[in-house]
Amino acid sequence: MVKVVKFGGSSLASAQQFVKVGNIIRSDEARKYVVPSAPGKRNSKDTKVTDMLYQCYALAEEDKDFSAALKKIQERYNSIINGLNLTLSLDEQFKVIAENFKKKAGSDYAASRGEFLNGIIMANYLGYEFIDAAEVIVFDEDGEFEAEKTNKILSERLAKCERAVIPGFYGAKEDGTVKTFSRGGSDITGSIVAKAAHADMYENWTDVSGFLVADPRIIENPESIKVITYRELRELSYMGATVLHEDAVFPVRKEGIPINIRNTNAPEDEGTLIVESTCRQSAYTITGIAGKKGFVAVNIEKAMMNSEVGFGRKVLEAFEEQGISFEHVPSGIDTMTVFVHQEEFEGKEQEVLAAIHRLAKPDSIEIESNLGLIAVVGRGMKSTRGTAGRIFSALAHANVNVKMIDQGSSELNVIIGVRNEDFEAAVKAIYDIFVMTQI
Ligand code: ASP
Repeated sequence: MVKVVKFGGSSLASAQQFVKVGNIIRSDEARKYVVPSAPGKRNSKDTKVTDMLYQCYALAEEDKDFSAALKKIQERYNSIINGLNLTLSLDEQFKVIAENFKKKAGSDYAASRGEFLNGIIMANYLGYEFIDAAEVIVFDEDGEFEAEKTNKILSERLAKCERAVIPGFYGAKEDGTVKTFSRGGSDITGSIVAKAAHADMYENWTDVSGFLVADPRIIENPESIKVITYRELRELSYMGATVLHEDAVFPVRKEGIPINIRNTNAPEDEGTLIVESTCRQSAYTITGIAGKKGFVAVNIEKAMMNSEVGFGRKVLEAFEEQGISFEHVPSGIDTMTVFVHQEEFEGKEQEVLAAIHRLAKPDSIEIESNLGLIAVVGRGMKSTRGTAGRIFSALAHANVNVKMIDQGSSELNVIIGVRNEDFEAAVKAIYDIFVMTQI
């Protein structure tokens, strides 16, 4: 049995957290490959080491003195090393980093040092081999991740080593230039390593006990999700539920390796298991609720629209011309509505309207702003009757006016549009009807 374990920044923010991580790893033989993030925040006012590195490198780029900023970063690492009683010095590493900053090695290089150094400490603390991600995670000349090359190099390397630490978040181009994934990218590294190691499980350790059925800022102490499929996860993360980097599912998904989200501060909790498919039904008909505010609905009306071939294409072309992507397009007999992000749309509003007039020649266009979209997601909805009915009666009882309903043909989700100000009440009403009444 092989498990790849990735630990997030808050799990590695201090020596105390390192000790918890060490105990977790040592308590299971199978936890052979470890992917650490850079040290995160120790408290809400703290700064992540990654952000400190970006700031420090910005000084270097402007030819300003960055030595004090770099010293502060070294102090963060030294407090971990000393707290763990390790006989390890990062002086040499910091000398090299300072030289490379002077040579303007790039902000990706700068940010990657957070994981690189934490990986060295972790390997030393565990007695595991250290593998520099720059040697095994490959990017092409344009900075695109090279999945196949990486998998080949990395799996050959891992086959030769029993236990190792591979820092997250970065890799390198063939000429050696360091390149990072987008923020939170250590999740992706963990997934890549799990694939290359043919792992049985990818454990992603963070500071929450998995995914929650609803946003804890709206629902007090929401239930957690025990098992979720990749597709459900995608729907929920798209609508704002963030625990795992969106791209982290791709490497393991094809290999059928489940991801287990676990809590470093509560290792006894089972967390959330993310799987390709399952016969385990969720405890409630729904798996989760997520949503976002800040949408605009552009309502387009034209008599006999239904019989005009190409009408929808022309309308969407108007949005495409302005580089605006649409979220949902519910349509009626003589109407079609396009939901877009308010932020993206605002500056280009009049250009889009003019383009719709020019291309589709509608009778009228109306705009409604400040709308929220809520996704109610669940594999159980397919086999349950009355789900939509329950959602809407709950919303009616909560006095929420429903602006839009969109049920995907997969029957995996129902998307509901409400006014921004009704957003929280709507989420609460849906949570209550499914979770509190336990049906
Ligand atoms: N340290 C990086 C960040 O803060 C990557 C990660 O933690 O996954 O985004």
